Amino acid sequence: MQVLQHSEHTLKKALISKNPVLMSQYEKLDAGERRLMNEAFQPSSDLFEPITVHSKSDWITSHPEDPQDFEQFFTDHNRKAPCPEKHIIYMQSIGSLGNTRVISEEYIKWLKGYCEAFFYGLTVKFLEPVSVSATKCSFRVNEHTQNLQIHAGHILAFLKKKKPKDAFCIVGITMIDLYPRDSWNFVFGQASLTDGVGIFSFARYGKDFYSSRYEGKVKKAQRTSSSDYSIFDNYYNPEVTSILLRRSCKTLTHEIGHIFGLRHCQWLACLMQGSNHLEESDRRPLHLCPICLRKLQCAIGFSIVERYKALLRWIDDESNDTSGAAPKNSSDQVNLKKPVEAFKDWREWIIKCIAVLEK
Ligand SMILES: [Zn+2]
Ligand SMILES: [Zn+2]
Repeated sequence: MQVLQHSEHTLKKALISKNPVLMSQYEKLDAGERRLMNEAFQPSSDLFEPITVHSKSDWITSHPEDPQDFEQFFTDHNRKAPCPEKHIIYMQSIGSLGNTRVISEEYIKWLKGYCEAFFYGLTVKFLEPVSVSATKCSFRVNEHTQNLQIHAGHILAFLKKKKPKDAFCIVGITMIDLYPRDSWNFVFGQASLTDGVGIFSFARYGKDFYSSRYEGKVKKAQRTSSSDYSIFDNYYNPEVTSILLRRSCKTLTHEIGHIFGLRHCQWLACLMQGSNHLEESDRRPLHLCPICLRKLQCAIGFSIVERYKALLRWIDDESNDTSGAAPKNSSDQVNLKKPVEAFKDWREWIIKCIAVLEK
C-alpha cells in the first residue's frame, strides 16, 4: 500500500491558492469554516487523511490526470454553477428500484433527502417514475453475466429531452445495468457535463450481483425480441440494504459533483477520488476534502455547519422523508426504516467537524 502524502505547502496552495483575490476571499470566510478547512494541511489531522493506493488497478495509477486545485476550479470558464433560473436537481427513476412500489418510492425519497443535504441550498425534485419502455432505449442480455442491460446513451438522450427549464441538472437512476456500446461489457454510469445530464445504475451495488446465485440472470427461454419490453416486467431488483444505500448515495453525489465542475481529487481521501472498481469505491469516503468542499461551497454558497447539520438530520431521521407525497392508501403505510447503519461512522466524523466549526 502506498500513501500519497502531499506537503503542507502543496495542500495549502491547493486550498487557499497564491492568487490575492482568492486568498482574500478565503480570509473572509467564517473563522470556524477556515479552522475546519485548515485541517487539510495539519499533519496531525484526524479528520482528513492522505489518499492510499492499494493496487496498480486503482484509479490514480491507472488513469493519470492533471490535478485540479481550487484556483483551477474557480477560473474554469466551462464549469456550470447553479443560478436562480437553474437551481433544481431533478431525479428520474427508470424502471422499478425495489421489489415493491413502496420500497421504490421510499428509496428514491432517501436519495433525494441525501442529495438535498449534500448539495445544501439547492432543491432536489423527483420526476414521476418511468418504465424502461417509455425511454425507447435499446437493451440486451449481457452474454457473460446474463443480466439485462439498457443503452446508457439512449437514456441520456431521453433525459436531455425531459430536462425542465429550471433544472441545474437531471440525473437518471436505475436498477438495470447499463452498457455504453455493443463492444463494452458494462458501465456504472455515463454523464454529459455540458448538457447537465447523467444516468447511473445501482444494479451492481446489491450484495449478490457477483455471486453465482445472482437472480437477475435471464434464462434462454425468457429471452424475447429486441423490441419487447415485457422482459422488464417484474425483473429482479436487489434488496435495498444499508450498503446499497450508501453506495448509491456515494455515486450520486460524486457524479453530480462532476456536473458542478469538480474533477477527480488527488489531494486527500475524498468522495471525489476516481475509482476503477467497486472495492476502491467502497474505500473512498462519503465526505469531501476541504479543497473539494471549498469548490462546492463556492458554487452553491452554503454555510458549512448548516450543511453538516442537514446531513446529520438525514442520518438520524430513520423514518421516511416527510416532505414526499403522502401514501395513497392506508395499506401503503408500511413503516420502512431507512437503513443507515452503514452511515454511522460518517455520523461520528460529521459530529467532530461540527465541533471544530463551532469551537
Ligand atoms: Zn468520477
Ligand atoms: Zn477532494
